[in-house]
Parts: sequence; C-alpha cells; structure tokens
Amino acid sequence: GSTTLEFDNAAYRGSISLNTGLFIDGKWVDPVEPDMIDIINPASGKKIAAVSLGSSKDVDIAVKAAQKAYKTTWGLKCPGSQRGKLLTRLADLMERDIDQFTALESLNGGKPFAVAKGVDLAGAISTIRYFGGWADKIHGKTIESNETKLAYTRHEPYGVVGQIIPWNFPILMLSWKAGPALATGNCIVLKPSEMTPLSALKFAELVAEAGFPPGVVNIVNGYGKTVGQAISEHMHISKVAFTGSTLVGRKILEAAARSNLKVVTLELGGKSPTVIFDDCNLDQTLKWAMQAMYLNMGQSCVAGSRMFVQEGIYPEFMEKFTAMVKAFGEATGDPFAPTTMHGPQVSQVQFDRIMSYIASGKESGATVHIGGDRHGTEGYFIQPTIFTDCTPDMKIVKEEIFGPVVAVMKFKTEEEVIEAANATDYGLSACVFSENVGRALRVAHAFESGSVFVNSAQLIECSIPFGGYKASGIGREQGEYALETYTQVKAVHVNT
Ligand code: NAD
Repeated sequence: GSTTLEFDNAAYRGSISLNTGLFIDGKWVDPVEPDMIDIINPASGKKIAAVSLGSSKDVDIAVKAAQKAYKTTWGLKCPGSQRGKLLTRLADLMERDIDQFTALESLNGGKPFAVAKGVDLAGAISTIRYFGGWADKIHGKTIESNETKLAYTRHEPYGVVGQIIPWNFPILMLSWKAGPALATGNCIVLKPSEMTPLSALKFAELVAEAGFPPGVVNIVNGYGKTVGQAISEHMHISKVAFTGSTLVGRKILEAAARSNLKVVTLELGGKSPTVIFDDCNLDQTLKWAMQAMYLNMGQSCVAGSRMFVQEGIYPEFMEKFTAMVKAFGEATGDPFAPTTMHGPQVSQVQFDRIMSYIASGKESGATVHIGGDRHGTEGYFIQPTIFTDCTPDMKIVKEEIFGPVVAVMKFKTEEEVIEAANATDYGLSACVFSENVGRALRVAHAFESGSVFVNSAQLIECSIPFGGYKASGIGREQGEYALETYTQVKAVHVNT
C-alpha cells in the first residue's frame, strides 16, 4: 500500500507519498499475514495513516534475503570503497529530502520542526556520511611473534545484523544503527518503533534510489513482541543492536542466550545527573541545563533529570532557571509553528506514564516548583516541570521518567555530590558545570557513566563514542568504536 500526506504550514508545504508496506529484498511487499497499525499525530491524538505490521514470518523472509545479499553482492564480495560510495550517495539523497524527512519526524513524533531539522536530521545525515567515510578504512594488524611466525588480523562483518529502534529519535537512531553496520559490510534487518515508522519508510525509498543491492537493507515494521522478538531469537542473525528500555534490553539478552548466542549491543535508559557548582558560569550553565533536561520533551536517554545545585548558587540559579523554564513552557504548541520550542509527548501511553510519575512526586512530598500538569486539552502535551525538595528515595529521583520532569537537589561538597550522582543503577551520561578546570575534570573522571559533558550537554556527535556504564547498556555506538562492535576479528597464522 501507499499513503499521501499533505502539509500546509509555514515550515513545510507540499505532499509526501510513502510506501506503507515492508521493504524486503529491495521491494515493497505486504506482510505474509496482513495486519496494519494506525499511526497517530501526538499533537492532536488523531490518525495520520495506517502502515503494515510484519510478523516473525516476514523476519524469516528478510533474513533469507539478507543472507543471500551478504554472500553474493555485499559482505566480503563488495569493496569498501563501493560501500562508502553508496552510503555517501544515501547521505546526499537524505540531504536533498531533508525537509520531507523533518516534516515526517515532526508529524509522527511531535518534534518542533526547527529542532528536528537541526538535531535529528542534521545528525542522521552526518552519521551516514561519516560511516561512509570509514567503509574503505577498515583493516586489521600484522603481528610478527618470531622469525618464522607471522599473523595478521582481519576485521570481518558478522553477516546479518538485527537492529531494533525506539521512537524518541527515529531517523537519528536508525542512522546510528545502519551507518556502521553497512560500512563494515553487514546486511541489516531493521525494525523501527511501531509508533514512529514513517521516516524509516522514507529512508527505505532512498536506499533503493541510492542503488544498494537488494537484500542489504530490509525494514520490517512491527511490534516488539512479534518482529522484535523474532529478530532477537533468530538463528541466522549473528548480532543484534537495540536501543530502548532496560526491561526489553534484558529480554533481548535472554533471547540471544537461548538461541544462537548472538552478539548483543544495548543502548538503554538513564537517570543522568547535572551537577552545578557555585563557581560555574551561570548564564552558560542555565542554557545547557535547560537543554540537558528539556530537549525532545525530555524523551532523551541522556536527559539530565537529576539536577544537583550547590547551596551557594542555589537561590540565584533556581530563580533564573525557573524563569527560563516558564518562558520555554509558554512556547508549547503546534510542532510546525515557528515559535514552538516544546511539543507533545509521543503517545497516550507515555503521556499517562509521565503524569503518573508527576502524581507520585507530589505524593512522596516533593514540591512542584513549576509545571506539573498537562498543557491544553488535546494531544499529549505536558508542561515542563520542576520538582524541588526531592530526596534520593523518591521514585521521581530513582526511575527514568522520559518526560519533561526534573528533580532538583541541593548539595554542599564535591565528595557528597559525586556519591549522590553515582547512586543510581544507570550510567549513561552526566554533566558537570564549574569554571575550576581541576574540579570539573576530577568530577568528570569520578562519574560512573559512558559520556560526560563538561560545561555543556547533549552534544552528541557521530565521531564520538556513545554508550552506557552499569544498567545503561553494553557496547559503544558512534565513532571508530562502533566499527569494533560490527566486526569480528579473525587471526590468520602463517608459518614463514
Ligand atoms: P521499548 O523498549 O518497549 O521499545 C523500544 C523498541 O523495542 C521498540 O521498537 C519496540 O517495538 C521494541 N520491543 C519491545 N518489546 C520487545 C521485545 N520483547 N523484543 C524485542 N523488541 C522489543 O520502549 P517503550 O515501551 O516504547 O518505552 C518505555 C521506556 O523505555 C521509556 O519510557 C524510556 O524509559 C525507555 N526508552 C529509552 C530509550 C533510549 O533511547 N534509551 C528509547 C525509548 C524508550
């Protein structure tokens, strides 16, 4: 099937036609067992379109297509320079259609248009281009252990890789997964989030237009418990890469263990600390602390949702921060309006989940400093919210809310705040603000987290590795490090 979406607003005018089927072996196909899902506009709660839902049978067909492509046209059969050329062409096509992609992300995910263009699309395009550049630079090492013995390593692809994507950054997370997998010569079977598949459908069209051989990229939309599970327990998928909740991450590891011991990389949730010292640059810190928490309506795995403010600066910081959050909240509305900075949460389920966390914060004795309610009467809008008087035992301090809700705590000493910041099962990201270089770096090194931002936040780039400590994940994405997680090392021993 296909659908045509009409846009008529200041940010984007025009129509976008999309295939709504599954993209398998270079063709658009209907699922073996026909099924559809309604795609909802989170700004209105109304239906946008309906797209196909696959099942484990479609995953089987996609894996067969991917295996065939791997053996005949891709993998070790395709020179890296050719893979790089195709990825670069794909990045160029994405750039050509950047406004269409952005319109789809804003419509399907409620993202303010300018932010989606500058963050999601700019990031996705540069990621595909960046990994295109690596495709012909993947090589091993020579090891000469003694006069008669030489060994060398080859960094070979896994073959067929399964990839499971969340709804919070659909095209960006897709690019993080597809870029390194394809650059290193793997074929992919990718499942977008069933709630936000539109940009992945558009991506598949450009994969075909760029000229990738059939079967190299397969996109099977569907539910986690059907398509997602079939990917994670498939006997001919050698690696699975997942971004999403810790709960599902565990299920994927279990499925991998039960099936073929496939390699698993997981990018899971977080409860990231933002630590603000008295000696910070206040104006800069306010700007970054805002972005750390409220970018993407708080639906970011690195969201700075626990904010620790040193007592000396606390009154002035809170006064200014509250004013900024208030102004930000006033810019809530239609994602396509040029003045909008804060859009809706992605779905009714997420909306309800966040509202129940807000209720729990109130019940547990925290103070709603600002926000704490829904915005408007239609769609899934929630006011940017600040809780003060928070204590470490509260649910709003311990659990990932994945919404625009920050828990603020006051602290006295560096030692005390390091301990408090690390008192979480998660370890994805952390921010520290101080003009004292020694202190900022001491704290950066003491954080138990995969990323640390010094006097900044959310500055994630395709060339810099990203991943979690503790329950926030396994393995690294992005940068040169991602190549390691998409290749296996073969040692060839030679008797000279
Ligand atoms: P989720 O983990 O259920 O969904 C993420 C992806 O996994 C989706 O594509 C989903 O279809 C798939 N999936 C679900 N069950 C699966 C299974 N059994 N096997 C294989 N794949 C499966 O996340 P959610 O329920 O949409 O969101 C819940 C919470 O997860 C959020 O509130 C947030 O805390 C967290 N989350 C984190 C990230 C992140 O970037 N780290 C992204 C999305 C959600």
